[in-house]
Amino acid sequence: MSEDMQVVLIQKHATKPGLRGKIDAKCIECIYDPRQEGGWRQQVEKCTSLSCPLYTVRPRSSSAQAGGQSLQLGEV
Ligand code: SF4
Repeated sequence: MSEDMQVVLIQKHATKPGLRGKIDAKCIECIYDPRQEGGWRQQVEKCTSLSCPLYTVRPRSSSAQAGGQSLQLGEV
């Protein structure tokens, strides 16, 4: 059941247009565990894999972005 929730979330985000949804989906696939505390965004926000190429563009809450760097996902 928990894995089903994760798959549904991944598909929901991966099918959005643009890169944002794909990045969100990858991070959900990578780190989100519905059985653990916090929603997917909170769990991704706590990611500590500094060497991951997606680390600086991983989804974060708006309050976390306000205190940190903000990245544009325009033309890539
Ligand atoms: S930023 Fe973190 S959660 Fe996202 S793909 Fe990389 S290691 Fe996984």
